[in-house]
Parts: sequence; C-alpha cells; structure tokens
Amino acid sequence: MAEKFDIIIVGAGTAGLSAAIYATRSGKSVLVLEEMAYGGQIINTPEVANYPGIAKISGFDFAQGLYDQATALGARVEFCSVSGVEDRGNEKVVKTDGGDFEAGAVILATGAKNRPLGMAHEEEWIGNGISYCATCDGAFFKGKTVAVAGGGNTALEDAIFLSGYCEKVYLIHRRSELRGEQHLQEALRKKENVEFVLNVAIKELTGSDHLEAVVVTDKETGQERKLEVAGLFVAIGQMPKNERFADLVELDQGGYIVAGEDCKTSHEGIFVAGDCRTKSVRQLTTAASDGAVAALAACAYLER
Ligand code: NAP
Repeated sequence: MAEKFDIIIVGAGTAGLSAAIYATRSGKSVLVLEEMAYGGQIINTPEVANYPGIAKISGFDFAQGLYDQATALGARVEFCSVSGVEDRGNEKVVKTDGGDFEAGAVILATGAKNRPLGMAHEEEWIGNGISYCATCDGAFFKGKTVAVAGGGNTALEDAIFLSGYCEKVYLIHRRSELRGEQHLQEALRKKENVEFVLNVAIKELTGSDHLEAVVVTDKETGQERKLEVAGLFVAIGQMPKNERFADLVELDQGGYIVAGEDCKTSHEGIFVAGDCRTKSVRQLTTAASDGAVAALAACAYLER
C-alpha cells in the first residue's frame, strides 16, 4: 500500500521548500521528494544579496534555513528519484525508485539542470577540468588559469569568485554584450586577473585525458585563439527536466511546464512552481513566490 499525503511536492529547491512551508502551515500533510541534495541551484551561489529583507546570505545558508523551516513545520523530505505521476481521479500516484506515494494534489518544483556546451570531451572531462559549479570546484584550481563560459549572472559571479583563487580567469562569451547585471560587470572589470574574451565561439576543448586548452574563434575575424587553462566552468544557463511529466502536463517547446502566475498546469490537481515552469523572471524571489501560490492553490483544490 502506498503511503498517503495531502500534498506531494517534487523537488526540494527554493520553490518546493517554500511550497512545503505554506502547505504545512495550512494544516496539510506534506511529502517532499528530492533526487539530489535539498536546496536546489541556490546552494551553488556564494552570496545572495537580492532577496528582500535579507541583505546578504550564502546560498547554502539560505537553503538550510528553508529546509529547517519546512521540516520543523512537519514536512517530510525523502530522497528518491521520481519517474512519473499517474492520475487515478482523487488520488495522484507519484512513482519513485523508492516505491509509490499517493496524494490528493501534486506540486512539480523540479527546477532546472545545467546546460552543457555540447562539445566533444565535455562530459568525459567532468571532474578533469570541466565543471558546472565554481563554488563547489573552484578551490581545486587555486593558483591556476581557468576559463568561465557564459555572459549571464552566474558566469559573472563565477568569474568574480574564481578571480579570488586563480592566477587568471578568462571570461568567454558568445556576444560582445554581457547579459549579466551591470554591477557584476563593473565588479569584474575591476579585477586585474580577469580577461574578457568576447564575441567568440568555442571551437574545441583540447587535452589528453583532461582539459588543457579551450580553442575559440573570433566571430568577426574568424581568428582562432588557444587559451591554455586547467579548468573550464560552464555557466550558460539551465534546462528544465520535465520529460517524465510530458504525458501528464503540457510542456512548451523548451520543455518548461506551461502555467501562468496561478501555477496551475493543464492537468487538474497538478501544480507547478519555480524555474521549471514557463515564466519570464527566474529568480529566488519568484521561486519562493511560486511556492506560496502553488501550495495555496493545491490547498484550495483539496478543499473544493
Ligand atoms: P542566463 O541568464 O540564461 O545566461 C546564460 C548565458 O549563457 C547567456 O549569456 C547566454 O548567451 C549564454 N549561453 C546560452 N546558451 C549558450 C550556448 N549554447 N553557448 C554559449 N553560450 C550560451 O543563465 P544564468 O546566468 O545561469 O542565470 C539564470 C537565471 O538566474 C537568470 O535569471 C539570472 O538572472 C538568475 N541568477 C541571478 C543571480 C543573482 O541575482 N545574484 C545569480 C545567478 C543567476 P546570450 O547572452 O547570448 O543569450
């Protein structure tokens, strides 16, 4: 017999744990299912300085606070991998590698995973020069030369962080304009050991059994340049991981779950929160906001 809960939340990132806080405070029994570590993407951010009411906090401490708050309120967190959700009318059955769980309503808060460059050797050299997490792996490259690929906030923050450890940091971006916030761009430009390599395409990752260089091509001149580096931090955005729910809820072309600000999916009783849904602003604040909206919508659905 599958264990029953009022609400099952898939994903223990900011959106999922915020939903757990709101649902437990509404008197519901809540199970949160997480396949990796709790906290989601924010645990990889060294410093969060744009969450209203908190001037400065590390991503890890922020995530820990959310987890402690949700579990103290009574949410149960289980670590297992969800393979799909089956709707049996009033009961939704969540299938996992640790068995089935049942709930009256389900909130999908699966976040997103790092987008790869899609280059030869990229996957093979993860841990041997290729990383997607500067906070996790930066210390391995102390005193060495590294590169960061990407022009968004993550890439800029990673480059700032790495410039404190590494001899030199190349910031490689496919356009001349950076996408990341102005204050991060300014902070990075002040670093003497950071070189901007802009308007280039990454042509090749070279090395023997580990990364030794990144070959880039200037998009205007076609000129090639070989950047000898011990590490490449790939920070080119995220991709959702919703394929397993494709039969249940509508996904857009990019794989995001289609929903508006009410966090209701195309399937009654299935809600969505955070970066895994269609939205224009993917931030910590909007993930937390989605968690609250989805939880209260799920509660209203149960009480209909
Ligand atoms: P992002 O904002 O989507 O930026 C991704 C970057 O990678 C862009 O510069 C993009 O180039 C580039 N890119 C995408 N695909 C590429 C490819 N195949 N090859 C080469 N380059 C590629 O992603 P993010 O920086 O991870 O940020 C995600 C979200 O989290 C954003 O909303 C961001 O503001 C937020 N965030 C906020 C903070 C903060 O507020 N402290 C920190 C981190 C992240 P183009 O610019 O040419 O598209």
